[in-house]
Amino acid sequence: MLSYRHAFHAGNHADVLKHLVLVQLTRYLAQKDKPFWYIDTHAGAGIYALDTGYALKLGEYKEGIGRLWGRNDLPAALAGYVDLVRRVNPDRRLLAYPGSPYFALWTLREQDRLRLFELHTKDARLLQESFQDAGKQVIIEPTDGFAGLKALLPPPPRRAVVLIDPAYEDKHDYERVFHALKESLVRFPAGTYALWYPQLTRLDAHELPQRLKRLPAKSWLHVALRVREPAKDSFGMHGSGMFILNPPWTLHATLAEVMPYLVEVLGLDASAGFTLEQQED
Ligand code: SAM
Repeated sequence: MLSYRHAFHAGNHADVLKHLVLVQLTRYLAQKDKPFWYIDTHAGAGIYALDTGYALKLGEYKEGIGRLWGRNDLPAALAGYVDLVRRVNPDRRLLAYPGSPYFALWTLREQDRLRLFELHTKDARLLQESFQDAGKQVIIEPTDGFAGLKALLPPPPRRAVVLIDPAYEDKHDYERVFHALKESLVRFPAGTYALWYPQLTRLDAHELPQRLKRLPAKSWLHVALRVREPAKDSFGMHGSGMFILNPPWTLHATLAEVMPYLVEVLGLDASAGFTLEQQED
């Protein structure tokens, strides 16, 4: 039984980092004419209202996209990401936030394909409804994304961006993501894989990036944004990270420009900071 609903958290600091990075990956692959696939193992509901229901309850977006919304000094990559959020907020008021499938759709071309997995029955239905006019470019499956990924690799065009974005409500997800990446590298070593993870005081969250560095990928990049000091009671996320296998060579420079800005604008206390490290080919 899945209890996590992304609607509570849509547009928070973790979504900002995740979707900013995602857009850099898909835009990079779209520079070459050859088609590619976007595979989203944990796709969510697709689009989220910020002015009603779940998002309003916690108001997490106010400390994420809400802090970037009115700024006119955004670094270029961040401005490109915020412009995409404007597509669902045409009158300039921040009322809705798009999920990862939309950021991908808007940065793919006609020849590219989206393969989306979402296990939560209600969220899968919402996702299917919002993409019902998308035609054959988008295939949505209401099934387990880890098994789905395995079945799709290697993808026919031999080019792909894979986003693995579990909620980690099930502690086995830390093991699952590690093994999914390990197996995926065997099936399709050239893929670009992006894994999101939460910064929490629990050991398996803390150890995950160190374990991922030992995977046999040609290159990797690790970026993390910490917005606050870890909570004394060990509850709650104090930041999040993205671990990318086979990243575009341009990504490090882009993030080196953006991350200090994000710390400045999204940081909640003096311990806010970022990590940016990579191993090149
Ligand atoms: N990727 C989305 C985005 O950025 O907009 C957010 C995804 S949310 C963090 C994680 C989602 O994974 C939830 O909607 C949850 O229902 C779903 N989920 C949990 N376990 C899953 C599984 N084994 N396969 C596919 N989806 C799963």
